[in-house]
Amino acid sequence: MGGTFDPIHYGHLVTAEEALVQFNLDRVVFMPTGVPVRKTHRSVTSAEHRYLMTVIATASNPDFEVSRLEIDRPGTTYTVDTIQALRDLYGPQAELYFITGADAVWDILTWKDSAELAGACTFIAATRPGFDLGRFSEERERGIQMETMEVPALAISSTDIRARFADRRPVRYLLPEAVSAYISKNGLYAEGVTP
Ligand code: ATP
Ligand code: MG
Repeated sequence: MGGTFDPIHYGHLVTAEEALVQFNLDRVVFMPTGVPVRKTHRSVTSAEHRYLMTVIATASNPDFEVSRLEIDRPGTTYTVDTIQALRDLYGPQAELYFITGADAVWDILTWKDSAELAGACTFIAATRPGFDLGRFSEERERGIQMETMEVPALAISSTDIRARFADRRPVRYLLPEAVSAYISKNGLYAEGVTP
């Protein structure tokens, strides 16, 4: 499951847990992005903070792990390279799934190497509130393996959480308390600050 995780929240965690069970996966590997290709409109929190928040949020779940693969790779990262690296790591027999929010699928599939992603892994597109899951017929025609998955509607986003921290509005029950404490301790998302 790739993401900026700036910060990770219960929407991500519920989605990962649901994928684990619905698709009978051995584990979910959270993959914080390195230099995000697509989020150039704002400065993203340092990779090390995003990585540590993801570790904190997933620590208690034995089926969740966090990979440094993308954050340790210099330069721009493409998902196709990550899938290849995971393939090298887990071997030719491994079944790889790319878990994503349904809203993010088109971003991924318009990336430069989306054609190479066809056949390399199966996409699992999770509902986000207000999203119609009947919309992937075109991708399937292009040979992209696409599964859809309904998760309990959680209208949580990192964008909203960052705004809440900046405005000192409540964030409890939107993300794990330990992550929230980490954010406060390090002064992340205070207005105008990008550590
Ligand atoms: P931002 O608001 O900064 O875009 P985000 O909340 O969308 O952050 P990302 O790190 O961009 O979080 O998301 C990583 C992946 O998790 C994406 O595929 C995204 O669609 C998915 N996702 C995020 N929030 C939810 C949610 N509440 N329910 C289901 N999927 C989600
Ligand atoms: Mg997003």
